[in-house]
Amino acid sequence: MHDIRRQFPLLDRKINGNPLVYLDNAATTQKPRAVTDAMLDYYRNINSNIHRGVHHLSQLATSAFEESRQRVMKFMGAAQHEQIIFTRGTTEAVNLVANGFRDFLKKGDRVLVTIADHHSNFVPWQQACLRSGATFDIMPVEEDGTFDLELFGRKLSQGPKMVAFPHISNVLGIENPVKEMTAMAHACGAAVLVDGAQGIAHCPVDVADLDCDFYCWSAHKIYGPTGIGVLYGKREWLEKLPPYQFGGEMIEEVELERTTFAALPFKFEAGTPAIAEGFALKPALDFVQGVGFDNLREHESELTRMALDGLGRIKGLRIYGKGEGHSGVVSFNLDGAYHYDVGVILDQLGIAVRTGHHCAQPLMKHLGVQGCVRASFAAYNTGEEVERLVAGVKKAAEMLV
Ligand code: PLP
Repeated sequence: MHDIRRQFPLLDRKINGNPLVYLDNAATTQKPRAVTDAMLDYYRNINSNIHRGVHHLSQLATSAFEESRQRVMKFMGAAQHEQIIFTRGTTEAVNLVANGFRDFLKKGDRVLVTIADHHSNFVPWQQACLRSGATFDIMPVEEDGTFDLELFGRKLSQGPKMVAFPHISNVLGIENPVKEMTAMAHACGAAVLVDGAQGIAHCPVDVADLDCDFYCWSAHKIYGPTGIGVLYGKREWLEKLPPYQFGGEMIEEVELERTTFAALPFKFEAGTPAIAEGFALKPALDFVQGVGFDNLREHESELTRMALDGLGRIKGLRIYGKGEGHSGVVSFNLDGAYHYDVGVILDQLGIAVRTGHHCAQPLMKHLGVQGCVRASFAAYNTGEEVERLVAGVKKAAEMLV
C-alpha cells in the first residue's frame, strides 16, 4: 500500500486541516505520477500533430498514439486495433453508437435500457427512440440492486434491437452478469452495448469472452487522463454504423459533391484527438495491471465490506444496493438528513464523497429519493480511511438527525 500511495502525490494533501480521504473515485480517480509525467513528457519532447506529418516529431507522436491503441486492444481482449475507437469518454462513445444506430431504428422497433443506467447511457437511447419513433423500454432493478434475469428474459422476448446496460452501476455498485445478459440478448436477436465506465477499473474486461457488440469507457475512471475514452465495437457493427462527426482525419477522398470515408478506426475519429492523453493512457493501464485485478478486487471488496459493516451499524442509515457482486461503491442516506449536508460535514473532515443524483435521476426516482451520498474506492484507499468515513458519518448523524 505504501508503494501504491507513493505514486499519488495528491493524496498527501490536507483539506480543511485534515489529511485528505479521497472517496470520490467513481467520479474520477487520482492519477499516478507515471501518468502526469507522461503528459509532461509528451508536451516537452514529442508534441506534434499525428497521422499527417512526414517529419520526425509527427511520426514519433503518431507511433506513441497508435501504440496506445494497441495497448488498449490487448487490455480489453479485442482482436483488432481497428475495433478501438478513441473518443472523449464514455459519454461520447455511447452517443456515437446511439446516433448512428438511429439509422437502424423505426417505429415499432424497441430499445431496452435499465433504470440503473447513468444519464450517459440513458438519454442518448431515449433520444434515439424519440427521434426514430422506436419504443424506449426500461428494465427495473430489484430492491438489492440486482436485475431479475427472468424479467430481463421477458423484456427480451419483445424483440428489442438494442440492449444497453451498465457493467457496474455508479450508484448501486453491483457488477452485472454481462456475459450472461449478452448471451440472452443475442439469443433474442438484440445488439448489446455495455457502459463500462465503472467496470473497466474494477474487473478484468475481455470483450471476446463477454461477446458484447460495444463496450464504452473513460480513461479518467481508470487512473488515466480526462478527455479520452474508448469505444470498442464488433467490426461488423463499426463497418455498418455511419460516421458520427465529419471533418479532417476521417475522410478518404473529398470531392465537391461527395465524400468517401476513411477505414476503421479513423472513420469515427474526426479532428485532432487528445494525443497527450492517449499517450498517458498507457502508464495508467500499466499501473492497474501492475497492481493486478485479483489484488484490486480483493482489496476493494474488503473496503466495501468494512464500509457496509461500519455504516450499517449507524441508526437510521439506509444503504442502496446490497446484492451479490457489490463492490467499490457504497451509496447511502441518513434518515432525516439531506445528503448534501452530510457531504459538507464530511468535507470539513477532509473526506471527499459525492452527493446528489449521480447522473442517475431515473434511478433516484425508482429508489424514492432525490439523491444520496456515495463513497467509492480505488487501489490507494485504506481500511483506516474507511474507518474515518464511518466516524465522519456518525458525527454527521449526531449533528443532523
Ligand atoms: N456511465 C457511468 C456508469 C458513469 O459512472 C459515468 C461517469 O460517472 C459515465 C457513464 C460518464 O462518463 P464520462 O463523463 O467520463 O463520459
